[in-house]
Amino acid sequence: MGTNSNSGRKRLISAIILVLLMTAVLFAVSDVPFIKSARDSLMQKLGYEAIDQGNSDENGNENSVSENDGGKTAEWDIASDIDPSSLPEYNGQHYVKVSNGIPVFPDEVYERAGLVKDGDDWKTKGNLLGTVDSNKLTPYEYYGSLDNLGRCTGAYGLLGEETMPQNGQERGDISSVHPSGWAKAQNWERCHLIAWALSAENANPSNLITGTHYLNYDGMRPLEEEVEHYIWNTGNHVLYYVRPWFAGDELVARGVQMTAWSVEDKGEGVSFNVYCFNVTPGAEIDYKTGIVTTAEQAAQDARTYVINTRSGVFHYPSCDGVKEMSEHNKKTVTATRTELTSQGYTPCGACEP
Ligand SMILES: [Zn+2]
Repeated sequence: MGTNSNSGRKRLISAIILVLLMTAVLFAVSDVPFIKSARDSLMQKLGYEAIDQGNSDENGNENSVSENDGGKTAEWDIASDIDPSSLPEYNGQHYVKVSNGIPVFPDEVYERAGLVKDGDDWKTKGNLLGTVDSNKLTPYEYYGSLDNLGRCTGAYGLLGEETMPQNGQERGDISSVHPSGWAKAQNWERCHLIAWALSAENANPSNLITGTHYLNYDGMRPLEEEVEHYIWNTGNHVLYYVRPWFAGDELVARGVQMTAWSVEDKGEGVSFNVYCFNVTPGAEIDYKTGIVTTAEQAAQDARTYVINTRSGVFHYPSCDGVKEMSEHNKKTVTATRTELTSQGYTPCGACEP
């Protein structure tokens, strides 16, 4: 009996172990809800989820943000209701990544280039193993028409040596174009959405926006040069999408989104998705009118400051330092920055008034 009950116990233990193992295996292969990593908040802020192709979970279920056609038609509409406060704030960097920097385009952008869907990927028609055949690609450029406020809506295309300036082709005059928000004597530059070096486009009003030197040269140019050099070095092609982002009915763009992906090597050579800031560090820009106030001019303008009478530091009213200040030491004044500094007050290091 002792032996019998012993082997019975052994069988029971084996059975329990077997059940536990099977449970573990079932867990591993079952449809445990895929926990999506938190979406890039910037991407959402930019409304970019509308063209996010990787927007379904492991079961192929679409997330709520990409219903019906996945919003694939909406993304070209100028977002006239963009709340300025929802756009990324300039933090001293030329640009910030959109969607973790991963380039994604609406299907239309791929299709016009001669690419066909290959699972989650794209290839040229008839090519096995998802490869891209340069000869089957269709280089093109598309420029969105101006909206009812005369603002650029964006440009995209498949860029290559075919779209670039040809030998001996000279840059044309673009001074006839006055992009939306263009204000005289404000040091604005006519900023190409698709650079001349990539498109050979000159005075095309759909391709020129009112931009700062900082946007043009520090933000966009290094990225444009990356694409240009890649094309010259490889003869390959790059899908390219540039969109200005306007807040509300403002006439000057807050920034420009630039997305690029090298096609033949599937992004190995060029791959970025960023938002470049249309700012001039230290200057204030009225994006409605295009009027720029430099730091020096701003110092001459009277405005509201809050002085800490105990420390002698002055702040913008919105500064956290003001919230923490005791009412006793708080003094609100209307003055110019120059007046305050000449009276011996020190600008706050945090809000930098
Ligand atoms: Zn402050």
